[in-house]
Amino acid sequence: MLTESTLRFGAQTDEVTSLLRIVNLVRTGEATTRPEIGKVTGLGRGVVSQRVDQAIQIGFLGDGEFGASSGGRAPRTLRFRAEQGRIVICALGAAHIRVGITALDGDILEHTHRAWDIEQGPEKTIAAVMTLVDEVLAKDSKVPVWAVVVGLPGPVDFNSGQPVSPPIMPGWNGFDVRTPFEERFNAPVWVDNDVNLLALGERTRRRDALADLIYCKIGSGIGAGLLSQGRIHRGANGAAGDIGHVRVLDSTAVCRCGKIGCLEAVASGWALVRDVEQAVKEGASTSMAPIAEKGKLTLEEITLGVRSGDPLAIMLVQKSARVVGEKISALVNMFNPAVIVIGGAIGSAGEVFLAEVRQRVYELSLPLATRDLIITMSVNDEREPLRGGAELAREQLFDVTFPRWFAKGRPMRKPSDVSA
Ligand SMILES: [Zn+2]
Repeated sequence: MLTESTLRFGAQTDEVTSLLRIVNLVRTGEATTRPEIGKVTGLGRGVVSQRVDQAIQIGFLGDGEFGASSGGRAPRTLRFRAEQGRIVICALGAAHIRVGITALDGDILEHTHRAWDIEQGPEKTIAAVMTLVDEVLAKDSKVPVWAVVVGLPGPVDFNSGQPVSPPIMPGWNGFDVRTPFEERFNAPVWVDNDVNLLALGERTRRRDALADLIYCKIGSGIGAGLLSQGRIHRGANGAAGDIGHVRVLDSTAVCRCGKIGCLEAVASGWALVRDVEQAVKEGASTSMAPIAEKGKLTLEEITLGVRSGDPLAIMLVQKSARVVGEKISALVNMFNPAVIVIGGAIGSAGEVFLAEVRQRVYELSLPLATRDLIITMSVNDEREPLRGGAELAREQLFDVTFPRWFAKGRPMRKPSDVSA
């Protein structure tokens, strides 16, 4: 029997295990009626009924519509009560902050963004983030925040929630990003690398939830997120996938990280901007010249140049794609992904970029590793990091920490302490 005390202490008994499984079956849509739950779990009718009643009582499930009849009386469907909590996602880039809130099913309810230079340091940046969060929450007040996810443009130690020597974030090394959010929202907080969020966002779009996938973001900087069997591979220190600072042979370009010849320094958005500016100074004829001379050129402008057929833009973007393709091919041989997704602002260059990457990867990778490999562009949607952040929170809440907090009906700050 599920007693008050097992619920209160969240003990991982068979009863608790089956209760949590049933909530998750309904939540993911795998089984949404009592008979279906019985079929999937092998539990008897009486037990299923009892557990479902418990889940309804705690507040996770509610009664839904009547389902399809298979002869007799149509069974009543159950639904996961996604509306009872909110997930706050704060996606920080090098030059902007994007904030959104979702329901517990990941549905984006409100979002906003602003330009912001992450080099302003952690205190000022987090204050600016909080202001944006207050703005979006004001439009949707009264529902408690169940989880907060913060994405940062650099390596993050996922366990401590601290950035680890992030190359473009001076003052952030070892900063405790988690605590200010925990204190503000009294909810568990997860901090991760921004490209990991994008890789998780991509997972929500794939039928194969257990895919081996590489998400390579080429924006102002370059980074990659790795999904191994559907799980983020963060590595020992959170640095996995940080391909922006691997060495490109023969390059003498100085990188933002201080090293020479990094992939970023050759192929990223800021490197392309530098190259166009240099070419314009040397008298190259290009439609980008007026903006470049004003020092206002961005990667977005360069991709516009590609689309309007500007030869300099096309030449430089193809050059970037060849170097990126070369580095990705090394990953392909090591990691053997099923899918490579190219995202970030370079996405607007479309096939011009993708075709070069494909050619390079097929040329340099082992035939076995590329036999079924898909190389594709990400969906071009600025809300993608918010989707990925919600996916991370849902995974952490319902797959990882659920047994520790479910008895309270909602997660609290530091899920690891809840069972104590
Ligand atoms: Zn570097």
